[in-house]
This record gives sequence, C-alpha cells and structure tokens, in this order.
Amino acid sequence: MSMRLSTEVLVIGAGPAGSAAAHWAAKAGHMVVMLEKETMPRERVCGDALTPKAVGHLHDMGLSVTCDEFHRHHGLRMTAHGRSIELRWPTDHDHPSHGLVIRRSRLDQLLVEHTADTGAQVWTGVEVLDPIIEHGHLRGCRAFGSGNGTGPHGEIEVRARFVVIADGPLSPFGRALGTARTRTYAQGVAMRGYFPSIHHDDDVIESVFDLRDNTGEQLPGYGWVFPVGDGTVNAGVGLLSHHHGNDPRSMRELFDQWICQIPEYWGVVSEDIESEPEGGRLPMGASVRPRSGPNWVVVGDAAGSVNPFNGDGIEPALSNGRLAATVISDAIRSGDGLELRQYERQLASKYDHYYRLGRLATKALGKPGLMRRFTLLGIQSRVLTELVMRISTNLVNNDAGGTESVYEIGKVIARLVPDRD
Ligand SMILES: Cc1cc2nc3c(=O)[nH]c(=O)nc-3n(C[C@H](O)[C@H](O)[C@H](O)COP(=O)(O)OP(=O)(O)OC[C@H]3O[C@@H](n4cnc5c(N)ncnc54)[C@H](O)[C@@H]3O)c2cc1C
Repeated sequence: MSMRLSTEVLVIGAGPAGSAAAHWAAKAGHMVVMLEKETMPRERVCGDALTPKAVGHLHDMGLSVTCDEFHRHHGLRMTAHGRSIELRWPTDHDHPSHGLVIRRSRLDQLLVEHTADTGAQVWTGVEVLDPIIEHGHLRGCRAFGSGNGTGPHGEIEVRARFVVIADGPLSPFGRALGTARTRTYAQGVAMRGYFPSIHHDDDVIESVFDLRDNTGEQLPGYGWVFPVGDGTVNAGVGLLSHHHGNDPRSMRELFDQWICQIPEYWGVVSEDIESEPEGGRLPMGASVRPRSGPNWVVVGDAAGSVNPFNGDGIEPALSNGRLAATVISDAIRSGDGLELRQYERQLASKYDHYYRLGRLATKALGKPGLMRRFTLLGIQSRVLTELVMRISTNLVNNDAGGTESVYEIGKVIARLVPDRD
C-alpha cells in the first residue's frame, strides 16, 4: 500500500541547491516537501571550499556558521612555475571577506537541519523514482523510502503544484523531463582525498596551476590544497573533461601525480590518505537546458550551474535555489504559473554573460600551449593574478583596480566569438 501526500512545493535532492530552495520556499510560508535518497550525514565528493559569496548566502539563510565547525580562510595563494602570489579576499563587497572550508557531509547535514527548522518537511532515505505526468503536465513523483532516514518506508507518491529539481550532476529526474547537457560545452572532472597536514588550519587556500601530463604538457585545470581545520587538508585535482577526464584511470593517475607534486610546505604524505580518493563531474557554464518548464525549475548541478572559471558549484547552487523559491512563491501568490518564466530570465540576466565568458576562457585554455602561456604571464604580475582571482570568483564589481572594465571588455569579446563548437 503506497503513501500519498500533496504539497505546494516538492524539492528533489537535498544538496545545497535543494536545501536553499526548500528553505526559502518554507520561509515564504509555503508547504514544502524535500526528498533525499541518502540518509544524513552523507558523503558528497567535493573540495569543501566555500567562496566569500557562498558564505554570504549561508548568512542570508540565517545558518549559524561557527568557527568550531567551519574553518575560515581569508585568501587564496596561486602557484605556478615555481612562483606563488597570495591574495586576501576583497573587502569591497557586500558579502563577508572570508571563505570557509567544511566537509560536505557536515555542511549538507547542517543545511538540511536548518531547512527542516524553517518548516519544510524533509524526508531523507527516500529515493525519487520517476515523475508523475498527466496530460503532459508534471504532477509530482513516485518514490521509495528505505525507512532508514527521516522518511517513511515503502512506496510514496507526492503530488505538488511546483517541483524544484535539485538532483545533482546526473539529474535523472531532469533528464526524464527532457533536460539535456550541451555536449560541446566543457565539463569539469575532479578527484579529491583527505590528508593529515601540519598546516591544516592555515587561513589561505592554495591552487596550483602547473598540472602536467606524462608528456610534460600543461593541462587546463588546477590542483588544490584546502585546509579543513580538523587535522586534515582536502587535496585534489580538477580539469576540463575533454582532456583526461572521461577515463577514470587517467584521472586517478593524475591525482597520484599531483599528490607527489603538492608544495612541500603542506607536509602531505601520499600514503597517509584517509581513504581512497573519489571523483566526480562538474557540469558547468549553464550547460543544461531547459532550466524550467510550466511548473518546474532546475537548480544547481542539475542545471549545469558550476562556475566554469574555477569549478565552484556551491555558491551557484545556493543562489539558484533561492531564485527558484522566489519565482515559485510569486507564482503561488499571484496564481499565475507564467511567473516561472522569470526564473530563466533572471538566471540569464545574472549569469549568461559571465558564463559565456567562462566558456570562452575554458575553450581557449583547452588549446595546446595556451594554459602554459597564460599562467606564465599571469604569475609574474600581482595585478593580473588579482584580476584572475576576482573574475574567477565572480567578485567583479566595485573594486578600485578596474576589474569591472576588463570584465566588460571580456564580455564584449565573448559575445563576438561563436560559442557552440
Ligand atoms: C571533486 C569535486 C570537488 C569540488 N569542489 C568544490 C569546491 O571546493 N567548492 C565548490 O563550491 N564546489 C565544488 N564542487 C562542486 C560542488 O560539489 C557541486 O557543484 C555542488 O555539490 C552542487 O550542489 P547541488 O545541490 O546542485 O547537487 P548535489 O550536491 O550533488 O546534491 C544533489 C542531491 O540530490 C540527491 N539525489 C540525487 N538523485 C536523487 C533521487 N533520485 N532521489 C532523491 N535524491 C536524489 C543526491 O543524493 C544529493 O544529495 C566540487 C565537485 C567535485 C566533483
């Protein structure tokens, strides 16, 4: 016998995108059900680093960010060709001037608990199986609960007026509704592991740009060391998938090479890895379309929202979730489903130019030799490195250094260059 329930808003997936959407919709006073197939805490492969902008979203949500749980960082060290430049996060913005590192098992659990406290019904251990479609219209989903989480055991049918699809990079629910990734856009692939380090509580994160393959060619990607503050660092490597990424063995090789190449300062020993490294995909640059339908919206990785400049996906996920909740709330209040069109429009006005420029940059850096030339030039100049840092973390406004003007020129160039091949 299956269980049936109805809600105003159904959210599928409880990563940062789903939790943000459920939180903001519940806060606006709507009835919300969020379903998550895993039980919390669950592992989610990630570098665990939040940019200052992402921290701003957590503050806006009212999530208490204590130093005991979240490790703060105040800057970024960029390293390439034997040189390093350390930069502090800008203070000339509305959001905090620090970022955070927190293991995703903990961050996502905190977000889920906070979302439940806001009033959403959160069921973990409930896997969504397929959409319920009647007369061509999405009515909800069928799901199955293991009974091991906060959700019930057995078959479940949830009917909803609006659905938020936040089921991560593979997005099976989105695909069932017809979403697809533009395959000509670059996708990221990355792998990470945890290592004990004497500098586990440093207040800078580090990105190293001279990754090489066996032939010595510099690859379009970077290695990172992010101090977690709990005795370990999260160290990993990420690159554009049209290089190594489609072959998991070569990704593992690259990871192993990178670990041996990590700056000595961190005291990372490859044999001390906490457990086997794990990898995943980063659908980036607004590569998934459509991102909405008559009564559904797609958010976070499911919408291909990862920042193509740096692989940061938590901030766009939190931002997409909030925007989704806002348009759905407007649609419920006005009784006009057409309000959902605002989702696509607002995403486009907020991100399209930025992502287009990011796609152009990833395409250019994928060409042999260009990554090397670019990093050789960039690492000679503090001004250039700061420009890269600001653009890649989407902190382009208001600074005195002229980043905004350079960014505007970049946008114009990106508009003139074909985007699809
Ligand atoms: C190796 C690696 C390192 C990264 N490092 C960083 C970093 O340092 N900083 C950063 O900002 N980003 C990083 N990212 C990207 C970031 O992890 C993602 O962009 C982010 O997790 C996207 O959040 P989301 O909520 O959209 O999806 P997810 O976090 O993937 O959440 C999706 C949720 O949906 C659930 N789900 C899926 N299918 C179903 C179903 N059928 N029924 C119910 N639930 C379902 C999943 O269990 C999951 O909990 C990294 C990614 C990788 C792979």
